[in-house]
Amino acid sequence: MATYRIVLFYGFTPVKDPTAMRLWQRELAERWDLTGRVIVSPHGINATLGGTVENLKRYVKTTKQYPGLEKIDVKWSAGTGADFPRLSVKERPELVAFGVPDEIKVTADGVVGGGEHLSPAQVNELVSERGEDVVFFDGRNAFEAQTGRFADAVVPDVRTTHDFVAEIESGKYDHLKDKAVVTYCTGGVRCEILSVVMKNRGFGEVYQIDGGIVRYGEAYGSKGHWKGSLYVFDQRGAVHFDEHSQSLGQCIVCGTTTDRFRNCADAACTTQRLGCEECVPGPGFADRCPECVAARDEWLQRV
Ligand SMILES: [Zn+2]
Ligand SMILES: [Zn+2]
Repeated sequence: MATYRIVLFYGFTPVKDPTAMRLWQRELAERWDLTGRVIVSPHGINATLGGTVENLKRYVKTTKQYPGLEKIDVKWSAGTGADFPRLSVKERPELVAFGVPDEIKVTADGVVGGGEHLSPAQVNELVSERGEDVVFFDGRNAFEAQTGRFADAVVPDVRTTHDFVAEIESGKYDHLKDKAVVTYCTGGVRCEILSVVMKNRGFGEVYQIDGGIVRYGEAYGSKGHWKGSLYVFDQRGAVHFDEHSQSLGQCIVCGTTTDRFRNCADAACTTQRLGCEECVPGPGFADRCPECVAARDEWLQRV
């Protein structure tokens, strides 16, 4: 029996020919029967792939031969071989869609002008030294924070990464401009950009966590500043770092603790809501979410 794993990594380095890199990545992933998604941009690569251990090792070793990707931090986790329905390899203007491709400058050493990287241990040192002067800032889509987040974290009101720039420029977070702001996201890639965006807009002391929630959770489980489970977009749905970990999420129907995000009844809607096994046994809710109901009411009033 083969052993399956999932790898998650990103690397920021100048990519002169993203099309060539996309074709190369697709060729490697197909050669070794990997599924999942890879995004390539002029700034680098971001990948989440599943497959057998042997094949993933071959893929990672080969990918690391690309200049600037020698030092990528690859996160390994358990897989089933069926974690992703297919392979998607895409070329985009940005690795994460903040909508600021021209603001981001990348060298072989990574992103220029981002927040200082802290190891999980350094995060804890910062909090114990500076106390309430330190604020955790969630770099994910707001719904992801429903099941888990850092203690007392600020969770911006964003549906997608694209909303971040307007949210930060709104003035809502200006009181954090002289605080020590620790940005965090799943594996760290979103904070590489978010921290640049924040620093460029007047936030004086911005940090990011090396390897994101994944590395912090591996180091401290439920015994640090992270609370709850980690949302992941693949079939696993949620990751628990130890046996004491409990989701912060509640079923919207009955209130029981759950980290099961379910789809909206409207197939075109991307809203995810929490529904427990009993209330929402299938892949989605039977009804549509308030947001798409409201959008339709608005549309009906206009016609
Ligand atoms: Zn329920
Ligand atoms: Zn909906």
